[in-house]
Amino acid sequence: MQRTEDGGIVISCDFCGTDWDEVRPMIEGHHGSVICLDCLKLAVVQAAPAEGKYSCPLCLRDNIPATLPRWSHPSHPNAIACEECIHQAARAFHKDPDVDWKWERKKK
Ligand SMILES: [Zn+2]
Ligand SMILES: [Zn+2]
Repeated sequence: MQRTEDGGIVISCDFCGTDWDEVRPMIEGHHGSVICLDCLKLAVVQAAPAEGKYSCPLCLRDNIPATLPRWSHPSHPNAIACEECIHQAARAFHKDPDVDWKWERKKK
């Protein structure tokens, strides 16, 4: 998400709340929503189905079925990423030559 501070725009991760320092890799979703690599690393491992429908700030979808796995950071449980956005971000980080991380897809 973005906020204005001292006349400048500060970008922070929607999930862990960390401000972007222009070094930390981040992926932008819709409407300025952002997920950082640290969150994404957790999300690809921890995403799981849970109770109830939810909405995702990255793709701005509402009423996402409970069966689609989701992930949220313990410090911001109201910001929930859907699995499709997690996978999309994982692919983007995976392909980025500046990011020292490779996505190892879970074998089912
Ligand atoms: Zn984060
Ligand atoms: Zn999503």
